[in-house]
Amino acid sequence: MRMTDVLVIGAGPTGLTLAIDLARRGVPVRIVDAAPGPSGASRGKGIQPRTQEVFDDLGVIDEILATARPYPPMRAYRGDTVVWEGTLGEPRAAAPDVPYPGIVMLPQQLTELALRNRLAALGVAVEYGTPVADLTQDDDGVTAAGIRATYAVGADGGRSTVRKALDIPFLGDTFDTERMALADVRFSDGRLDRDHWHIWGDLATQELRLGLCPLPGTDTFQLTAPLAPDEEPADLQRFVTERSGRDDLVFTEVTWRSLYRVNIRLAASYRRGRVFLAGDAAHAHSPAGGQGLNTGVQDAYNLGWKLAAVLAGAHPDLLDTYQAERQPVAADVLGLSTLLLRGSQDAPRRGRDTDQLDVHYRDSALSVDTRRVPGPLRAGDRAPDAPLGDGTLFDRFRGPHATVLAFRPAPALDHAVELNTGAQAAYGSYGIDPEAGGYVVVRPDGYVGLLADDADAVRDYLSTALDRSHYSPVP
Ligand SMILES: Cc1cc2nc3c(=O)[nH]c(=O)nc-3n(C[C@H](O)[C@H](O)[C@H](O)COP(=O)(O)OP(=O)(O)OC[C@H]3O[C@@H](n4cnc5c(N)ncnc54)[C@H](O)[C@@H]3O)c2cc1C
Repeated sequence: MRMTDVLVIGAGPTGLTLAIDLARRGVPVRIVDAAPGPSGASRGKGIQPRTQEVFDDLGVIDEILATARPYPPMRAYRGDTVVWEGTLGEPRAAAPDVPYPGIVMLPQQLTELALRNRLAALGVAVEYGTPVADLTQDDDGVTAAGIRATYAVGADGGRSTVRKALDIPFLGDTFDTERMALADVRFSDGRLDRDHWHIWGDLATQELRLGLCPLPGTDTFQLTAPLAPDEEPADLQRFVTERSGRDDLVFTEVTWRSLYRVNIRLAASYRRGRVFLAGDAAHAHSPAGGQGLNTGVQDAYNLGWKLAAVLAGAHPDLLDTYQAERQPVAADVLGLSTLLLRGSQDAPRRGRDTDQLDVHYRDSALSVDTRRVPGPLRAGDRAPDAPLGDGTLFDRFRGPHATVLAFRPAPALDHAVELNTGAQAAYGSYGIDPEAGGYVVVRPDGYVGLLADDADAVRDYLSTALDRSHYSPVP
């Protein structure tokens, strides 16, 4: 049986992100998927700003942004009469600390294609037609689908076989009364323009009856329609005609369709022994708010560098911080996306609350602040970008390493970036007083690990918390 370091089970956005992050660190990885080939479904189409930052670091952002588009304005109709036009939120401009300010839209099959292309460039291909039916583990490794690995990660979606095999409860609710028809449809003519998200519903009660959203990079529209209890739209064409009150919206092809039941669930544990859960396998969302795909990508990005570090000899306790950091984030997100779905008065507006830039790990054991005078940026926060010379701080973070920002003379360490008082934007973004100076260790996943006044604290942190000798990039 061929041995690998990490077996990734499931090649959706979560599994692909994880496989890329491991492969670029030189970690032997295999990724299997039960499906015979890539999915053509548009599903999660919103890519949040924080996810764009991750995709930048992983080297996929150019391919993503070449096709993705901002969300189009919405156009509401009664029959074929336009009764309202508007947007989901105000567009935001890029800022020195936030290079990717707004959500962009790309159908999930194209996001996955970009991820697969990057993975292929790193020499790894998805092994399709390889279902994991069961899995066993012992002190040395995990066996699944005839593959032996040191660690395995179940990124196998909401119905996760891995989660069930591990006997991990999936806590929460399934709302049988809240169902949605979903489809990708192609129309025969240009009756619906591709510059608007077309919706039919009741403006007074904000009740959506039908949505048709043009998907960038395709000639299809994503159809979304809430269903009454027990309603089964067997004849989708007739359903669209009834819901829109128009008989001229005739589609020629339905490339994907699905019935979606709202599930709000969280795995009781993200780990059992050598096996981890990530993405929808660990948390099930409502589709509102566009959080599911994004939260899965962030899970993978949190876990990747830790697995690589431990495989290279770092203390295995590092892996415990994965659940400690990511499970509370998912719990928060689940509360959030449920509010958006219900249209609650308390629902946060799309924007700062959903872009995942404020996700933090302040309570993590990896977040350490030894400064005498703490500032606004705290250990565990996302490390902001800032202009630096001809480039930006993010240029220095890009890659699998941690970075030491020195607002004082830099210690002799790999990836130490010395910032003089001329780097005003960096001082501002990090809330650091140029007189006081100090040091910031930015983790490989772009979060502030340590804030300190002296270089010794930096050395200590790197050799203990992050185990510096093992997270450096593979030559
Ligand atoms: C209509 C709709 C709109 C959405 N909109 C958004 C949005 O705007 N933004 C957002 O962030 N999210 C959105 N989502 C959610 C998003 O699609 C999911 O959260 C995302 O696909 C989760 O990714 P994943 O990789 O964790 O799991 P999945 O994408 O479900 O991938 C799991 C993979 O595992 C494979 N697999 C399953 N079982 C096994 C097995 N036993 N062995 C091997 N392989 C297996 C499957 O074939 C699949 O390829 C939306 C979802 C829907 C339905």
